[in-house]
Amino acid sequence: MLKQVAEGVWVHQSELLQNNSIVVQGKAGVLLVDAGITGDEMIAIANGLHELGQPVVAGFSTHPDWDHVLWHPQLGEAPRYGTARCAAHMRELRSKAAWKARVAEGLPPEIADEIPLDLFGLITGLPAGTAHIPWDGPPVRIIEHPAHAPGHAALLVEERGVFVAGDMLSDVLVPMLDDVNGTNDPIEDYLVGLELFEGVADDVDVVIPGHGSVGGADQLRARIELDRVYVQALRDGGVADDPRIGPSAKPGWEWVSDVHEGQLQRFAKQAKHDGMTS
Ligand SMILES: [Zn+2]
Repeated sequence: MLKQVAEGVWVHQSELLQNNSIVVQGKAGVLLVDAGITGDEMIAIANGLHELGQPVVAGFSTHPDWDHVLWHPQLGEAPRYGTARCAAHMRELRSKAAWKARVAEGLPPEIADEIPLDLFGLITGLPAGTAHIPWDGPPVRIIEHPAHAPGHAALLVEERGVFVAGDMLSDVLVPMLDDVNGTNDPIEDYLVGLELFEGVADDVDVVIPGHGSVGGADQLRARIELDRVYVQALRDGGVADDPRIGPSAKPGWEWVSDVHEGQLQRFAKQAKHDGMTS
């Protein structure tokens, strides 16, 4: 079901993981961001758009994680954009032998059979520094940043005041720090991303996270702060008092506390190591 969140902007939320797929109305069809996860859900989006008489004229993937780079044949053959880094990451993944089996291994077992992988990760990379998605609709600004995953981009749907955050600013998931780019500093990278978001906050009325609930302008600022406090606590070896972990976690999201514990250990080791070498 498509739910309207702003003028010309709709959201479809997946049942598992609360993945948000975003539809933006253009002149001759729609832009579809992060198309969804199960085949049935993507077909439901395709049917909903068909009923509205709206073909998909462009797609966009916010970042190269499995739940953001899927597609279904019924959504059509529009170009599916992403940052150059996102596209390169996917190209490399798909070039490996038995990539499909490897991807399948990482899927949530309860829905693994329902996730179509044929069109997985076929992303058209936009040249680095591209300011807006090339399409005929309200300008959609690309805010590429180093947090969470290589080639991650948030989007600002200008003239609609809608901010598409990718896998950040969630009310159910704590910040998940990148573990792919081994050479980078994932904590500082995350803070850089949040700072970029803060820079556009004045233009935002609605924030749509990759997972969880849609919020208003006040939520954008509150979630930037919540994520920042969480990441800084990881860096400084403290424990954040965070509603997304521990007893206050939403039912079904208790596993986020395990993700948190893993990150706590990973960065505690690093802090100790840094202390010894400095
Ligand atoms: Zn995600």
